[in-house]
Amino acid sequence: MAAGADPGSAAAFGGRTPRIAIAGNPNTGKTSLFNRLTGKSARVGNYPGVTVEREEGRWRLPGRVVDMVDIPGTYSFAARSAEEQVAVRAVFGLDGAPRPDLVLLVVDATQLVRNLYLAVQLAEANLPFVIALNLIDVARKQGIAPDPARLAEAFGVPVVAVSAHTGEGLERLATTVGVALDDLPRPDIDLAYSPELEADLDALVPYAAAATPGEGRALALWSLLSVEEGDELLDVPPAVRTQVAAIRARATAAGRDPDLEIVSTRYHWVEAFDFGVAPAKAGPSTSERFDRFLLHPVSGGLIFLGVMTLLFQALFTWSDPLVRLVEAGFSWLGSTVEGALPPGVLNDLLVQGVINGVGSVIVFLPQILLLFFLIGFLEDSGYMSRVAFLVDRLMRSIGLHGKAFVPMLSGYACAVPAIMATRTLERRRDRLLTMMVVPLMSCSARLPVYTLVVAVVFPPGASILGIPSRVAAMVAMYLFSTGMALLAAGVLGRTLLRGPNIPLLLELPPYRMPRLATVVRQMWMRAKSFLTEAGTTILAATLVLWGLLYFPRYEPPPGTPERTMEVARADQLAHSAGGQLGRAITPIIEPLGFDWKIGVGLVGAFAAREVFVSTMGVMYGIGEDADETSAGLRSTMQAETRDDGTPLWTPLTGLSLMVFFALSAQCLSTLAVVRRESHSWRWPALLFVYMTTLAWSASAAVQGVGHLFGFR
Ligand code: GDP
Ligand code: MG
Repeated sequence: MAAGADPGSAAAFGGRTPRIAIAGNPNTGKTSLFNRLTGKSARVGNYPGVTVEREEGRWRLPGRVVDMVDIPGTYSFAARSAEEQVAVRAVFGLDGAPRPDLVLLVVDATQLVRNLYLAVQLAEANLPFVIALNLIDVARKQGIAPDPARLAEAFGVPVVAVSAHTGEGLERLATTVGVALDDLPRPDIDLAYSPELEADLDALVPYAAAATPGEGRALALWSLLSVEEGDELLDVPPAVRTQVAAIRARATAAGRDPDLEIVSTRYHWVEAFDFGVAPAKAGPSTSERFDRFLLHPVSGGLIFLGVMTLLFQALFTWSDPLVRLVEAGFSWLGSTVEGALPPGVLNDLLVQGVINGVGSVIVFLPQILLLFFLIGFLEDSGYMSRVAFLVDRLMRSIGLHGKAFVPMLSGYACAVPAIMATRTLERRRDRLLTMMVVPLMSCSARLPVYTLVVAVVFPPGASILGIPSRVAAMVAMYLFSTGMALLAAGVLGRTLLRGPNIPLLLELPPYRMPRLATVVRQMWMRAKSFLTEAGTTILAATLVLWGLLYFPRYEPPPGTPERTMEVARADQLAHSAGGQLGRAITPIIEPLGFDWKIGVGLVGAFAAREVFVSTMGVMYGIGEDADETSAGLRSTMQAETRDDGTPLWTPLTGLSLMVFFALSAQCLSTLAVVRRESHSWRWPALLFVYMTTLAWSASAAVQGVGHLFGFR
């Protein structure tokens, strides 16, 4: 303990709370540990790239409190990808981020050699750190018994074996970290670089030292690995940049590669140690045996298709009882409120606007919960990473990076987190390309629209090739949107966003039994954003549209004969502000087979897609009984005719509408997040224009071709 330090007091940190950053390779249990220590519930998943943002929390040690920050996993601090940069900033305190007082390096005990590379980097940067040797429960089962004492000796820092699952070793970790905060560990390793490399470093150190006094060598090593032409590092001093370029040029001329020398020297140093790891295992592990089938080009593909079919099957059949329950609940609520309040604007607003409108969207919550539950289950088991591996060849053949698979897949739930997940990609070009096509994936907001449309245009008994028409249409829409996303990637990747392909370096995590608590927590967190959206954007847009359709109130001219309720409703809609707006845009949407009522729905849907459903609910529900269920909405819609008396909602109208929804950029949140992630207005603008144009053209084409074949 440092002389004079007052143990347990904050004096050593000038009265402020000490900060600890949790660093480590992806998928080593950093977030699990963070959640355990701070009682938070950040997202955990059994594949790399789950944490993309820093997450903060507090850890109560005996006698003191520390601030913890969980950061994205990284294999090195070279800062080539956006998530590496987040990690580097948090650990080194660059770019205005406060430098942590201590780093807690989480190491996977079953993958020591690869994991310790980061420890070497931290040690060479003279950062004080403590090693948490995590997954010790798994290591023991595999017969690996790393020796913490030997590791501690090699790096000169404390090492504690822990398990974020069982909680083993966490108390010891708390004590060790407490002691380390009072007397910061001084890492001590000695790597022998080649004389040529030492000469390179000597040339760079003076410039680096000018930027970071006392840390010249650490910054020089880091810069040699990280700085390159076209990187996106903001905080590298220009003089260092120039020097690195000069050193690289000299080395290349001499046939040397400084990056490679640094990396391989570090790995050799780690490999040369005996950390008490058992010698190479005799047979293949259980995960490897599973992978023989699951990654096989034929059986793996078939199993994947089987899993997906099961998923959709579950989605459409298992959720049915719950859907009915929600429907019944809202119709009960509607009639209760309607009966309890005197008739008038307030009654209409609450029943037709709020309850009908929001209810018609919330009805889809059961399906969405189930989708998120199943995806969470597949993720936590480790299967999702295999899928990424299986589709990598396909992805690469169209110019997408293999890692883009995870964001694309998340796009089936919602484009917003999916776009954030593009941070796992190293290159800006790959990130932009992925962002531009992710919104084409069939997100859960389209599900309500498709479900309503197929229920309206296909009779329950209809079937195509023995498959119920409704199911076939849904599956077709999912295939269509996936196909279009891949096609768009192929086109954009060869035109606007051209660039070389780089191979996928994805590690396959071991299969693990998913933890129910983790899966449920993830499902809940994703569903929460759906509910927030329903409670804010969708509610607001629904109310605005309700107002547009309700006002101005239409009074028939004196002398008009007594009107039926339907006629009165139609008159009101036609004369309302929304009705006039719908008519104004009719010329644009007529080629798609849509009438002005659908037009009003489309206008609302540009805020968020689900608003289409609630607008239909409001539009066809106005003036009707409050015990209106969505079955009632369907039959009202089915009865709707065009001006010439033919039915409006034919299968062709339905198809062209679904195609429009599949392709158009109707989501303000998506555009906002693309703007944030790309740091420019150009990309969201491009996204909006290209998707809307595509949607209109494809929908018009569906109409044209349909007419050719005699459909109306
Ligand atoms: P991160 O990527 O480093 O943040 O890792 P996560 O916290 O997301 O965990 C990755 C996976 O490892 C998840 O499936 C966890 O449930 C699992 N995991 C984490 N720590 C342990 C551990 O100590 N023992 C076991 N058996 N599994 C763990
Ligand atoms: Mg994490």
